[in-house]
Amino acid sequence: MKDQAETGNYAETLQLIGSNLDNYLKFDHDDAQTNAHIWQQQLDTPLPQQGDGFDATVNQLITQVIANASAIPNPGSSGYITTGAVTIATLAATAANVASPQRYTLTAFNLLEEVSLNWLAEMLGIKGMKGVYSSGGSVANLVALGGAKQWAFEQVGHNAAADGINRVGVIYASAECHHTIQRSAGILGLGRNRVKSIKCDDKGCMNVEALEQAIKQDLANGILPIAIVANLGSTNTGAIDPIKPMGQISKKYKIWFHVDGAYGLPGILDQRISHLYEGLELADSIIIDPHKWLGASVGVAATFVKDRDVLFRAFTQEPADYLEGSVEQEDGAAPIIEHSLDDFGIPYYDFGVELSSPCRGVIVWAMIKEIGVDGMRARIMRHNDMAKSIAETAKNHPNLELMLEPTLSICCFRYISDKVNDLDLLNRRLLRRLVKENNYLPSTTQVNGKLAIRPCFIGARSEQSHADGLIKAVLRIGDDLADQL
Ligand SMILES: *Cc1c(COP(=O)(O)O)cnc(C)c1O
Repeated sequence: MKDQAETGNYAETLQLIGSNLDNYLKFDHDDAQTNAHIWQQQLDTPLPQQGDGFDATVNQLITQVIANASAIPNPGSSGYITTGAVTIATLAATAANVASPQRYTLTAFNLLEEVSLNWLAEMLGIKGMKGVYSSGGSVANLVALGGAKQWAFEQVGHNAAADGINRVGVIYASAECHHTIQRSAGILGLGRNRVKSIKCDDKGCMNVEALEQAIKQDLANGILPIAIVANLGSTNTGAIDPIKPMGQISKKYKIWFHVDGAYGLPGILDQRISHLYEGLELADSIIIDPHKWLGASVGVAATFVKDRDVLFRAFTQEPADYLEGSVEQEDGAAPIIEHSLDDFGIPYYDFGVELSSPCRGVIVWAMIKEIGVDGMRARIMRHNDMAKSIAETAKNHPNLELMLEPTLSICCFRYISDKVNDLDLLNRRLLRRLVKENNYLPSTTQVNGKLAIRPCFIGARSEQSHADGLIKAVLRIGDDLADQL
């Protein structure tokens, strides 16, 4: 009997869903929370014993799910470090979901994993490093630090992946590092508390003398350094650590140097700031999230390493019968390759933590193919300019204060007024009003103990008008609140 689920087709349905998605992206609609009581009731139903069929499911997907979706793809949305994907990215992801369910086996999709990793490396100034995709910066950091752990223990004659760790190891990161560094240390059996927090200057960049001090002290106490971690665009403010001096220290003490460029690595394309990336060649591992500034659909990160064999030794599953036996091979002879299923291709499943995995390379390939390096550079520079324009306005306006000169596309500023004592309260309320108006959606952070409004511009659809609009809205709401408070 035919499976009930195989009654749909792509040609008509994608057109139908596509026109609804195009419409959604106009953002003429209310935020999902406005009508939450309605769609929650419509969707939170008992488990169906009999299905409703393809058409009814598509219909509900359009009318009740897509219609009540996320504000993140709104071009006025600049909160955290997240944005909607570019169209070509989601189309490529859909194609891969249909036609190539796994990244393995010798297909065009599989080839694009490696091609796109090499394109990324070349575009981002780390040509020659080898990569592996994963789901996000969290996993990409875990994979990189897994490699660091393996390598560090190998230097003292121990195979940590096989036998577990046999002594205390420490990771050095700044107080501004992303907390996935601590979580990685926990998962890797090093311990979250073994991430030593190195102090920063008031711009959020690591103090290199403090780093060297900490290393010297630990070495004297017989503690094994695992890795030095640099921020290449901190999540809070976009600060870039002193890469070259940190890399030089890593070489001096023979310690693995990891660079977290999840957000900021593409900033190297902006030649006005590319000097901040000097020393990148000293890195043993670097991560980037194409699903941030490059516009991939969420679920695409890459870990790059100088030596992918280290990742293999850290993450190999060891031989498995169900894998080894499936490829036909005469005893001692070269394998017969006549069919795409005859070979798994490059063993990405042994370079990280995922066996089953979607094809992510095709997404990155499509994005770069569509607009090239020049197109990416233009976007990065536009966003950096937007952050700068907010900084300039804030410096010159009596009711605005720039809290930190932007390095990349994040600008931390706030509304100020002589009439108000509690400026943290004023800016917190200001953000609530912005969120309610639903046009400009930054988030907040703390800069040197003060609450800052923090737009981070990475969206492909975000333009200068969105930075201008945000400033206008902040001034209008701020003036209003200053009279009330
Ligand atoms: C976003 C981010 C991460 C985490 O990445 P996810 O893709 O959200 O898992 C790690 N490090 C930095 C610097 C980031 O900005």
